[in-house]
Amino acid sequence: MPSNNGPLKNLSGQEGEAWFGPRGALPNLVLVSMDAVGAGHLSLYSYDRPTTPYLQELARKGLVFNQAIANSCWTLPSHASLLTGRDPFGHGASFRYSRLREGLPTLAQIVKMKGYATAAFVSAPYLMARYGLNRGFDTYNDRMPVKEKRTAAEVNQAAWAWLKDHHQRPFFIFLHYFDAHTPYLPPKPFQDLYDTAYTGEMTGETFANGEQVMKEGGQLSEADRRHLVALYDGAITYEDEQIGLFLKKLSSLGHSEDTLVVITADHGEAFGEHGFYLHGHGLYEELIKIPLILFDPQGRGAGRTLSHQVSLADILPTLCDFMGLAIPEGSQGKSQLPYLRDAVPAEDPVYLYVDRFPMLIKKYGPRFDQDLWALRTETWKYIFSSTGRQELYHLKEDPGEKINLAEHLPQQSAYFHQELQTAIGETDRSFKEPKPWFSSLFSQKKP
Ligand SMILES: [Zn+2]
Repeated sequence: MPSNNGPLKNLSGQEGEAWFGPRGALPNLVLVSMDAVGAGHLSLYSYDRPTTPYLQELARKGLVFNQAIANSCWTLPSHASLLTGRDPFGHGASFRYSRLREGLPTLAQIVKMKGYATAAFVSAPYLMARYGLNRGFDTYNDRMPVKEKRTAAEVNQAAWAWLKDHHQRPFFIFLHYFDAHTPYLPPKPFQDLYDTAYTGEMTGETFANGEQVMKEGGQLSEADRRHLVALYDGAITYEDEQIGLFLKKLSSLGHSEDTLVVITADHGEAFGEHGFYLHGHGLYEELIKIPLILFDPQGRGAGRTLSHQVSLADILPTLCDFMGLAIPEGSQGKSQLPYLRDAVPAEDPVYLYVDRFPMLIKKYGPRFDQDLWALRTETWKYIFSSTGRQELYHLKEDPGEKINLAEHLPQQSAYFHQELQTAIGETDRSFKEPKPWFSSLFSQKKP
């Protein structure tokens, strides 16, 4: 077993209550990330299409989080939060082509130190090993087809081949599904599940990466828009089935009673709610509200729902706590286990960030030429753009974020602006390196 030094030296917190299952104190861990799957499209969260029958079944035995927030709206920073327990101001993998900061312990490293076999099967270019999220995985399978997407069934198949040889000792397996990401091409019969009366020409291929709607003023007919949503929902339904199949197979290996399972997503997807499509360029609710379910075979949280705000950064400390492992010092997330007992949620804000993507600016114009920071509480969301624009929404009265209150409530806006500055001021240097745009947040005049 590796010694407790080097990048893991800050793993010095107190270990919690040990986990006791059929195999002693070490449960297996299965973590599934559904790329680009927003909570609003899951029947688990009352969506009107039956997109997630399997997750609903799992929810009856597991713990559901009703207000889970992604710390960014694109793949790399959100997964970095998931795997490190840090927000984008704290983990370094916050910019296009940036890399996870050295020295931050990852979930894979933490369990590997306990003797786990660790493996990841990922399907997106921004999760390739070069970005640093492979740290701690014995096997990091980022081999994806150049032209076609890797399907959830293919991810499962690769994971299954690995698992057959590694399940005799405790394991951590990370599955990343990409089917709900553009282009929306769910396999049959999932491409035909919804919107069956549609007679137009729109397909996942013709929409591809949304070129027709990304330019200012680009539009879709409502029928075409609805059809894209139907294809996307079909892909979610497909992933739901694949999660069910994977866990059923796991059960056939005898691991239904000794495996913790977490299902979540890295961000959502926009379908014109605020004039945008896709993701990676905004911090509205459709882009950041994600599913989160935790199944603990010991029954903690079984059939329960927690409705306070949590974020991807809370998952690592929560899993450590459930597994009886020390939570790394410096974790920005919090274990949610105490809230299953008698702890009262503290209404901690969640901090979000998305940087500008030069390729989008070049292809689609200046409306993408901005970085966005946001602070979200259960009641408020404050968004600040590097262009100086501010947005403030009362989420309880205006969950669709239609009424910008920033000018009407300047003191509230100024307060949140200050909080954002403070949060960034406490982060590591990689975030604060001078960048042409960066001074905009700090030079902002008090609103
Ligand atoms: Zn993603």
